[in-house]
Amino acid sequence: MKKKQIAILGSTGSIGTQALQVIEEHPDLYEAYALTANNRVELLIEQARRFQPEAVVIANEAHYATLKAALADLPIKVYAGTDALCQIVESQPIDVVLTAMVGYAGLRPTMNAIRAGKAIALANKETLVVAGELINELARQYHTPILPVDSEHSAIFQCLEPGNALSKVILTASGGPFRQLSREELAHVTKVQALKHPTWSMGAKITIDSASMMNKGFEVIEAKWLFGVQPEQIEVVVHPQSVIHSMVEFEDGAVKAQLGVPDMRLPIQYAFSYPRRLPLSGGRLDFMKCRELTFEAPDLQRFRNLALAYEALHQGGNLPCIVNAANEVVVAAFLADRISFLGMSDIIEQAMQRIPFVAQPTYEDYVATDAETRQKAAEWIR
Ligand code: NAD
Ligand code: MG
Repeated sequence: MKKKQIAILGSTGSIGTQALQVIEEHPDLYEAYALTANNRVELLIEQARRFQPEAVVIANEAHYATLKAALADLPIKVYAGTDALCQIVESQPIDVVLTAMVGYAGLRPTMNAIRAGKAIALANKETLVVAGELINELARQYHTPILPVDSEHSAIFQCLEPGNALSKVILTASGGPFRQLSREELAHVTKVQALKHPTWSMGAKITIDSASMMNKGFEVIEAKWLFGVQPEQIEVVVHPQSVIHSMVEFEDGAVKAQLGVPDMRLPIQYAFSYPRRLPLSGGRLDFMKCRELTFEAPDLQRFRNLALAYEALHQGGNLPCIVNAANEVVVAAFLADRISFLGMSDIIEQAMQRIPFVAQPTYEDYVATDAETRQKAAEWIR
């Protein structure tokens, strides 16, 4: 059988490196065709030597010479720049594109991959947050499947029953490291505290998003576009043990959940192997060790980002794009100690109120909204 050819956008990140572990577990089924990264050129070189892909792309062109020289003895094509990154996904042999890069930068390569008819294993939730309607329309037009990698959405996907409508989806949230802090305490939390997530080890941006609940807000928006549900059909339940990865409720009231140890390799692998399941090494759920599964409502007063995301989803148009762009700016500022934890939501709210609303945005509108929001948000932080 022909091996599935996989392109990993963001192979040096948390999702990217775990995807390579999945490929390594099933060398008879999967092959890394293309690996891409932004700045971590040394790790990309190491991965290229080990997995011998057809091509590598470094988005930051400043690293091109280093990458090219380090791989000179191998028949690997070496490219640099975002245009090259957007083009590589169109390569004929590629079957699946795993979008494991972070942020808005994932939008254009994802659109190209869809147009080229590649199955999308979607980790880059920002793409659906920014332009969910456009992405769905493209996927329909080009008959391209979009398979969720986000653990909650993979869980929901694993619970679906063809032909049976959902009455709601229930996204579980760990609550992050600040679940029990008061607003006064939240005002003083630092990035070091925010970067310590209780259950998952992830890239810096999504770790801050998890602490601020923006990640859950984005997942609500992501769920709408992946599963065709309305905002009122998407419920968030805080479940600190992270054993239930999410649930669905059907019209007869039956609820199905997917459970397991927290391990992103499972949703990554399932997106590669769907509809089959494959063996996977690693821990197994031991119910004797998790006697207590608890649930609580999210606090929208303390975690305003979640309320802002619901608001953006209700109003639609370019508002989710505004929220995403403002969030990328404030998270970078928080990581640079230039804004407080609660200050992040203030800027996002300001952007929602002040950036012009576009009810039915085109791709060009998204590009313009993203650029304008970034510029304004950066000014407001100064
Ligand atoms: P990360 O920061 O660990 O890795 C990001 C990767 O993208 C790196 O390889 C980096 O080189 C590349 N990259 C970053 N900016 C880029 C740019 N402008 N152009 C090209 N490449 C760029 O991030 P991560 O935690 O692996 O998350 C990746 C995506 O997956 C995010 O959208 C995140 O929300 C989503 N996700 C992650 C997890 C997780 O467990 N880490 C879970 C669910 C969803
Ligand atoms: Mg998630």
